[in-house]
Amino acid sequence: MSSPKVLVIGCGIAGPVVALLLQKKGYEPLVFEKVRELGDAGASLMMFPNGLKVLSKVGMAHFITDSATRVTKFCDRDSHGTDLGVSDLPNIFVEEYGFPGCGVKRAGLNMKLKERLAAVGIPVFEGWKLKEVIEDENGVIAVSEDGREVRGSFLIGCDGLRAVSRSLVGREHRVREGMAEYTGLTQASHKFYLMRAYADHRQTAGMSTTPPYLKEHPTMLNIYGPGAHFICYPVSPNTTSWAITQEELEEAPETWKLSSGSELLQQRTQLLDQFKAWCSPVPELIQGAERIVKYGLYDRPQLEPEYWYSPTGRVVLIGDAAHPTSPHLGQGANQALEDCYHLDRLLPEFDKDEALSSEKLIEAFAAFAKLRQPRTAALVKGARAQGDSRVVKGINASMERDDRLRKSWQDNEAITAKYDVLFREPF
Ligand SMILES: Cc1cc2nc3c(=O)[nH]c(=O)nc-3n(C[C@H](O)[C@H](O)[C@H](O)COP(=O)(O)OP(=O)(O)OC[C@H]3O[C@@H](n4cnc5c(N)ncnc54)[C@H](O)[C@@H]3O)c2cc1C
Repeated sequence: MSSPKVLVIGCGIAGPVVALLLQKKGYEPLVFEKVRELGDAGASLMMFPNGLKVLSKVGMAHFITDSATRVTKFCDRDSHGTDLGVSDLPNIFVEEYGFPGCGVKRAGLNMKLKERLAAVGIPVFEGWKLKEVIEDENGVIAVSEDGREVRGSFLIGCDGLRAVSRSLVGREHRVREGMAEYTGLTQASHKFYLMRAYADHRQTAGMSTTPPYLKEHPTMLNIYGPGAHFICYPVSPNTTSWAITQEELEEAPETWKLSSGSELLQQRTQLLDQFKAWCSPVPELIQGAERIVKYGLYDRPQLEPEYWYSPTGRVVLIGDAAHPTSPHLGQGANQALEDCYHLDRLLPEFDKDEALSSEKLIEAFAAFAKLRQPRTAALVKGARAQGDSRVVKGINASMERDDRLRKSWQDNEAITAKYDVLFREPF
């Protein structure tokens, strides 16, 4: 019997990594990506030890740790420049967990993962957008938007926030989802789980040259002011990535388009006008922005474990397809990587004498979903709560938030324990 063909939908973060892991296990992964050529959306990610451990399993952690600047400090500050809390905790990450925390440009990571797939002979079909799946007892057929069909043993939906794979699994369970705000509607045998705009929060993000004092002390810096939250961290020795979260009630469609030329100038001027009174490095980073992008923040209500895979057992969801999150805990990609590790671990070894039955797959997927759902659901909720508590309006609410933050930094044990729960995993 030949190796089971695994159809991996999405070449973001989870897709390539689960493909690389499964190839090592003797499976034959094929990766399908809707985008024709991966572009540069200008965004960045904080990678933490839990995610980097998984990347190390496929020889990819060094790409980040060799080229990135390790964060050595966490700092929370109010918008007048008074520190609310500072910690050297990131310095112990390598000793405690084997890996540091560091920022990375998303496009660079995507590109490296794609190169790795090519290097080990895993095909990537670009411009191939999943539209439909047809399952039977022996396998699955994936159908692209333009009518191409491919058959495999099973399919892994790694197609992110607006996953088609998720709607298709939902359809098999008679669970319907939409893209509007959560309404809590239920109707006859259909449940409606709707994607929700993250409390109407929007982020404006940019990349700028790192100011000298941040070069000396690479810091993940959060700055809190009335109605807005600012975060920045290094993504290379000379470049700092930053993002401002604010409430914006108008329902603008999400766009990841980079502002350029006159647009960039206009955005910079507007932002500078709004944030000129904020402490350093906010104005300088805005002023020095070489790129600016604006987008909405989304998550989705938690999906019960039985909806993470189809009843026939030929489709399973991982990463943002299963548990998209707002970015306030910096865990979406890191959790997607934990998913890859556990799914790979729980799938049976390739057995050349026995076909992969639906029963075996359901057993593995059920164990996977049961293990992963509580942790990821808690983190999605936690990220939402973190965002809500960061962006508050009015002087009194801002002062209360700052007091709360100041107090929380005094409890060193609680802070260490909070990170320990995240970074001890997944092995
Ligand atoms: C502003 C922002 C900041 C963030 N910061 C962090 C951070 O600091 N740390 C962190 O850990 N996480 C962060 N995240 C979350 C992180 O980006 C996601 O959790 C992570 O990218 C999920 O990986 P994924 O592979 O599941 O999905 P994605 O990375 O979204 O990849 C999905 C892929 O599937 C493709 N695709 C979609 N539909 C189809 C289809 N129908 N057919 C074929 N292909 C398809 C897409 O083009 C894409 O390439 C952040 C998110 C945002 C929005």
